[in-house]
Amino acid sequence: GRAVPPLAALSRVLRLERSRRTGIVFPLQKLERCLAPGTDTARFRLFQPGLAALQRAEALFSSDRGHRIDYVSSAVRMDHAPPAALPEVCFIGRSNVGKSSLIRALFSLAPEVEVRVSKTPGHTKKMNFFKVGKYFTLVDMPGYGYRAPQDFVEMVEVYLQERRNLKRTFLLVDGVVGLQKTDHIAVDMLEEFGIPYVMVLTKIDRASRGVLLKNVLEIQEFVKENTQGCFPQLFLVSSVEFSGVHLLRCFVAHVTGNLPTVEAS
Ligand code: GDP
Repeated sequence: GRAVPPLAALSRVLRLERSRRTGIVFPLQKLERCLAPGTDTARFRLFQPGLAALQRAEALFSSDRGHRIDYVSSAVRMDHAPPAALPEVCFIGRSNVGKSSLIRALFSLAPEVEVRVSKTPGHTKKMNFFKVGKYFTLVDMPGYGYRAPQDFVEMVEVYLQERRNLKRTFLLVDGVVGLQKTDHIAVDMLEEFGIPYVMVLTKIDRASRGVLLKNVLEIQEFVKENTQGCFPQLFLVSSVEFSGVHLLRCFVAHVTGNLPTVEAS
């Protein structure tokens, strides 16, 4: 197993001074302070759990003897996927968006979990299934790009359309460069299938505050004007600084039905 990075645990984050703590637990709120007064920020706070919910979610993502978190299997076709027995979430995004880093960050309190990366060109890309105790499964979908082969497109499309237990799809978008052409293709696909999804902006530690603010406002506007199935609140994450990771764990716990009450903070 790997060593657990300190800020992976909420207890360590809570020891930081207030402003840094807010930046890590609620990155959108930190950003909100830079907006012109009167800007409508209702969409920044739709999902704003309190400490108890964050802690409950963290417990779900922490393995121990009675609660195992395991890589289950990889599949290239739906009939190779494990049984659809638990509520499921999946993560999609173009290659290099930071998907494996984020999944590793989410599972950092279960350091024995191996998040595989297959980046070798020409190497078959697979869907990787992780089981979180008896609570839910998380699927790492292959990264897409301009040269996604047809069988990949078919695998992802079939999964998204047919997986009965899929509760939410997390579409990762690079927070530094914003929505790209391939991201729009993914959005169109999710809209066409009519399945609920969430946009996650990655690598926010790399973006200057101005760039990040511009991308957040632009994407938020895009979501408002052009989408039906996308959750109006964006999730901002840094897998390096652990910003937004605790909140995202909590949202995953919530959408998989493992957090019956999310009390306001
Ligand atoms: P994937 O292809 O989507 O799985 O992307 P990776 O997780 O492998 O990340 C692609 C590159 O971005 C790697 O060099 C990572 O180290 C880097 N990266 C990923 N997440 C972050 C982040 O949150 N912050 C920073 N600064 N770099 C990141």
